[in-house]
Amino acid sequence: MLRTLDDGGDFSETPKSATVETVETPSKPGFDSLDSPPTGTFPKIRGIGLPELQAAAGPDWAAIEGDANALEALALALTIRRLRDRGERPADYVQPATCGGCGPVWLWPGAPARVRACPWCFNRATGTPIPRP
Ligand SMILES: [Zn+2]
Repeated sequence: MLRTLDDGGDFSETPKSATVETVETPSKPGFDSLDSPPTGTFPKIRGIGLPELQAAAGPDWAAIEGDANALEALALALTIRRLRDRGERPADYVQPATCGGCGPVWLWPGAPARVRACPWCFNRATGTPIPRP
């Protein structure tokens, strides 16, 4: 009796057949819409103004704009991304890992030791330096 699964699925890759994993290069290296946020008398969180936080939050802004913890988390995420965008290792990236695309990289505590792709892949795609363990 034949199996009833469709042939079109790509989920049947067996790890033993893939000694070298393919890694998809990120098609969109980062969000580039934050280059020149409006400045003014807005308070800043971690040096990031509210207009920039709002731009980063996008449609989620309404849900988090009154949530100090969420704003703090978003500001932290933006801060980390800025460091990565400059090729600098964020202070929280203390765990060595191996990316299928980048090789040895620093990731955050608790990240898998081996990943198919990582945030540094954006740097690789744009030619930005990647700090190595
Ligand atoms: Zn990577």
